[in-house]
Amino acid sequence: MRIEKVDTFLGKITKMQNLKILSLSKDVSNAHYYTCKFIVVNHYSSTGGKEVVLEEAQVITPTPLVTSNQRLVINDPSLRSTWTHRAWVASGCTSVLVALAKSIVNLNVADTNVLVEPILAGLIGYVLADLGSGVYHWAIDNYGDASTPVFGSQIEAFQGHHKWPWTITRRQFANNIHALGRVITYTVVPLDLALNDPALLSFVGVCSGCIMFSQQFHAWAHGTKSKLPPAVVALQEAGVIVSRSEHGAHHRQPYNNNYCIVSGSWNKFLDEKHVFEAFELVLFFKLGVRPRSWAEPNSQWSEETEAHLPHIV
Ligand SMILES: [Zn+2]
Ligand SMILES: [Zn+2]
Repeated sequence: MRIEKVDTFLGKITKMQNLKILSLSKDVSNAHYYTCKFIVVNHYSSTGGKEVVLEEAQVITPTPLVTSNQRLVINDPSLRSTWTHRAWVASGCTSVLVALAKSIVNLNVADTNVLVEPILAGLIGYVLADLGSGVYHWAIDNYGDASTPVFGSQIEAFQGHHKWPWTITRRQFANNIHALGRVITYTVVPLDLALNDPALLSFVGVCSGCIMFSQQFHAWAHGTKSKLPPAVVALQEAGVIVSRSEHGAHHRQPYNNNYCIVSGSWNKFLDEKHVFEAFELVLFFKLGVRPRSWAEPNSQWSEETEAHLPHIV
């Protein structure tokens, strides 16, 4: 059994579950990080306290956050929008607008409270989009790698974002949100065709629109106040879209909070209640998978500044 950087996750186990580890060996002879899969047995000690015996541990090599060949250069052409990116953004926006327009067209004008349900449904869509953005961001920040089916490119992009967070402000608009535009197109077009209820269509339109633009809100959260449009700064300061200070905390140690990037309204609750930490422990004990946020603050998470990068023109 080999364990390195063990204190971090032992601290989490004892903090979350108030348990005591009785036996553990540590070997730091290897420079790589290892994750240990625990099989634990609960029993009561002679003093009557609840104790845990570590019966078996299995070494799992974790996935590196960013591989060494993924170097970024300034003015990288990969930050520019292509016509394919723009087409996906256009189709995503169209599907969202169709949902909202169909919601209005299908309103029952004879009803005096005609707008109450669609407006309420839209608000719920806005609130749940923020929660969804947090869950998705937490999952791809912590699990999987570039080779993961379906989500691999998104995982790679978010991992790269932690290494070079400032590049999101250099990334052109359609380049930044086209992946979400494609997901929204595939998801919302069938719903546009299937649904006729104004409230449901309002929910779908607002929720999907917020999810698609969450990457733009995210990019604005990395902007400097003086360079952002005043309307964007006003929305950030009103809490309508995620604020620069709140998202800034996500990019600082311990790198395990403030995952929501629509309005950020769920961040306080999720972080104070340790919701994601509880999910991480469940996944760790059930599947033996260790999230990247449990790693010691190291070069995998730390930011690489522009000054260290090569230039191309
Ligand atoms: Zn992140
Ligand atoms: Zn960010």
